[in-house]
Amino acid sequence: MQYALVNRVRQEAEPKLRGTCPNCGAEVVAKCGQKRIWHWSHLGKLECDRWWEPETEWHRAWKALFPKEWQEVIHVAADGERHIADVKNDKGVVIEFQHSPLDPEERLSREKFYGTMVWVVDGMRYKRDLSAFREAVAEGYIVNDSPLCLDPRTRAAAMVRRWAPLRHHVFIDFGDEDFQIAGFQPPEKVLWQFLFNRATGKVVIAAVTRESFMKFCLNGSEFQHLTVERHQRPRGRYRRY
Ligand SMILES: [Zn+2]
Repeated sequence: MQYALVNRVRQEAEPKLRGTCPNCGAEVVAKCGQKRIWHWSHLGKLECDRWWEPETEWHRAWKALFPKEWQEVIHVAADGERHIADVKNDKGVVIEFQHSPLDPEERLSREKFYGTMVWVVDGMRYKRDLSAFREAVAEGYIVNDSPLCLDPRTRAAAMVRRWAPLRHHVFIDFGDEDFQIAGFQPPEKVLWQFLFNRATGKVVIAAVTRESFMKFCLNGSEFQHLTVERHQRPRGRYRRY
């Protein structure tokens, strides 16, 4: 956790500090070492929220884009089950930043628990995913122009298997890595979205601008997807996305 209560005030971990876990009320101690990002840890070995994954720079960079009071929000279900949402906005939408894969059952139970949520997945978790995804996007078959939807064929199969959409939006974040779509570079930074193509029952890849993703999270705006504008002549060439 990034925040604990010290004298009832939310505070980040600093050397030698002790505090209280906002989720379970137990004592937590600031871990400020070299190896892992500074965080709060329960005195016992067990963290009270088994869904919580050790945070990375990636988690923290994303969370920092949101107001502090939206970060690490305790979500309590009707039956008393409680978990800490990475980010929960003022409209009740939970944004979970997921570094490690989850099996589908586990993912579904989190989706049910949070109700309205989106996943942002760390695409850089496995080295091989980046090259596979690059190929999938560069050589995938464009099944739709607006929004741009690519059939990745089998190239990104491992990622698709791991993160095929269940009930909620799934976005893959490859940070500042560059991509080419049919020879062109997307005009701005994007998050890649996995969508079900209802016609074929297969997963296709779309791209949402990072800017519109943030606007969606911050004030509920619509996602803006990349689209393809085709030249009239020569046939079949793509001018831009
Ligand atoms: Zn706790």
